[in-house]
Amino acid sequence: MNPPTSCNNLNHRKSDAPIRHCVACGEIVNVRISSLQRCTKMKHAEKRRQQNKCCSDCGEQLSRP
Ligand SMILES: [Zn+2]
Ligand SMILES: [Zn+2]
Repeated sequence: MNPPTSCNNLNHRKSDAPIRHCVACGEIVNVRISSLQRCTKMKHAEKRRQQNKCCSDCGEQLSRP
């Protein structure tokens, strides 16, 4: 069971989320998924285009100030 969170992204409620980090808040939702490699700027730019606030692989915030 995941600890309660203010984030209402569906992945927090899944026991086996397909991603490691929540794309809305960046918290880890599935520790069993390991990030295989460092993300590139291009990868983050791609995720930002998909309206994600955080990277699903490393949890880094994508939105620029
Ligand atoms: Zn979240
Ligand atoms: Zn990343």
